[in-house]
Amino acid sequence: MSRHARTLRILKWTATLGCLLLATILVASGWQWAYCPVPAGEHWLHCVVSRGLLGFAVYDGRAIKLPPRTGFQLLDPSAYLERPKVPRFAWWSEQLSQSGPGYWFISIPLWLPLVALLLLTLWLWHRGRRRPRPGHCRRCDYDLTGNVSGVCPECGTPIPPRAA
Ligand SMILES: [Zn+2]
Repeated sequence: MSRHARTLRILKWTATLGCLLLATILVASGWQWAYCPVPAGEHWLHCVVSRGLLGFAVYDGRAIKLPPRTGFQLLDPSAYLERPKVPRFAWWSEQLSQSGPGYWFISIPLWLPLVALLLLTLWLWHRGRRRPRPGHCRRCDYDLTGNVSGVCPECGTPIPPRAA
């Protein structure tokens, strides 16, 4: 198999798994919220995945009470979701970016990177399925220019007379 075909195969499976992972995180974030506060000098870096949104915040003690512990944490949001007018999923954040004294926050809907990755994945699969290029191995896309053996030197596939 040529380096090109191998790279393409690795890329398309990585992208496919990435799509599945992202979709799983998106759906799960309706039932489990994930936090990861990390101290950074005087500030805190804070990653949040909740309600289908991915948020990233930088803040200090002026804006938000510092969390009691750091590192990855899961939170059951059922008490919060029982409030009226709080949907399980937010398909768009009301404010993508917010800031105040000692506080900066940005959030994006997770479906945005998911759609982008999905399009990339579909394109990669489409590329992988296209017909072999003339003068290249139909199985592994190896360049067969000047080949006289009648067999692909890379993968051993017999070459039809007109492809060589
Ligand atoms: Zn081949």
